[in-house]
Amino acid sequence: MEFKIAVLQGDGIGPEITNAAISVLDAVAIKFGHKFNYRFPLIGGAAIDRDGVPLPQSTIDECKSSQAVLLGAVGGPKWDNLPGHLRPEKGLLGIRNALGLYANIRPALLHSELKGASPLKNEITKNGIDLVVVRELIGGIYFGERGLRNSPNGKQAYDTEAYSVKEVERIARIAFDLAKNRRRKVTSVDKANVLDSSKLWRTTVAKVAESFPDVQLENMFVDNAAMQLVRDPSQFDVILTSNMFGDILSDEAAMITGSIGLLPSSSLGDSKCGLFEPIHGSAPDIAGKDAANPIATILSAAMLLVTSLDLPAEATAVENAVKRVLSKGWRTPDIYSTGSKKATCSKMGELIALEVLNA
Ligand code: NAD
Repeated sequence: MEFKIAVLQGDGIGPEITNAAISVLDAVAIKFGHKFNYRFPLIGGAAIDRDGVPLPQSTIDECKSSQAVLLGAVGGPKWDNLPGHLRPEKGLLGIRNALGLYANIRPALLHSELKGASPLKNEITKNGIDLVVVRELIGGIYFGERGLRNSPNGKQAYDTEAYSVKEVERIARIAFDLAKNRRRKVTSVDKANVLDSSKLWRTTVAKVAESFPDVQLENMFVDNAAMQLVRDPSQFDVILTSNMFGDILSDEAAMITGSIGLLPSSSLGDSKCGLFEPIHGSAPDIAGKDAANPIATILSAAMLLVTSLDLPAEATAVENAVKRVLSKGWRTPDIYSTGSKKATCSKMGELIALEVLNA
């Protein structure tokens, strides 16, 4: 079959990690008889340098006419002093909004080969970590009314957390659907003891849960969830939460599995075209050195295959190839330990591509 994929390489290590992912996708194409047509529109700093804006309209159009979008990362010191609306990160918020991507899905899996990389004690990780954070992505406090006003105490700044029933329903359905094919448990995280928006969140999630009788629903306050994640992460299957709480908890969930270079994510809306990206940033400190870990991007490409292109066998082939390369002892510098075999970013891509071809 033939597919069109927009590859937003971005800045810093973005081109290196997306090139490694493309070498794996090319191997999938050969092995399974597909054709992937890549387009490379600009985003972030690269787009600012060429067009003066972080998200040119041509990039939005190219993404909208593709079946899936693979993103590297955006940003870097070169653009840090630009005004807020011209920062590379605005490109990221803009493309999520333009594609209506309201659900951010971040699996956090502790690979058995990399147990030692977790900062948690062995007795905590002995039951494994295999959870997914489902974060609402285009609502809540990051998009609510904000501003400056006068108060009796002088100048005051405010941001507003607001959620409609419809916004909560659609993200909750994604979480329950996901849980159906996993361990069938959703933990909805909120602050319903304080916030009205969380009270509405909780009652709406409970209503959605009625349509999923096989999935257990548990409610947890966000402060407790932050604590439980480091106390016993194995209790979680799918964590469903709002934009800001998800932003914070998903970084915590990523950290407890070891390297930031290993974790993929997808952002989904109502259309099949999703955006798939590693959870890390553009790592300017190692950019251009062929030292980045491309596995998070390669696993994001696997999510792209199953979610947007309906190619589950191909996705599994990529995931298995990653496991085999790790179990053969290959490591990029971020996860290297004495006795392992050293791989650069491009070498890691080649090794995983070879495993796909030779499986
Ligand atoms: P970062 O994730 O880029 O880097 C944090 C640390 O992790 C660095 O030491 C880096 O070398 C390391 N690291 C990150 N990815 C790695 C990989 N694949 N392999 C090995 N090591 C890796 O976060 P930061 O330093 O806070 O941000 C750098 C830039 O990235 C900033 O401009 C920031 O705004 C941007 N950013 C972009 C995204 C995105 O595009 N989605 C997300 C976060 C940050």
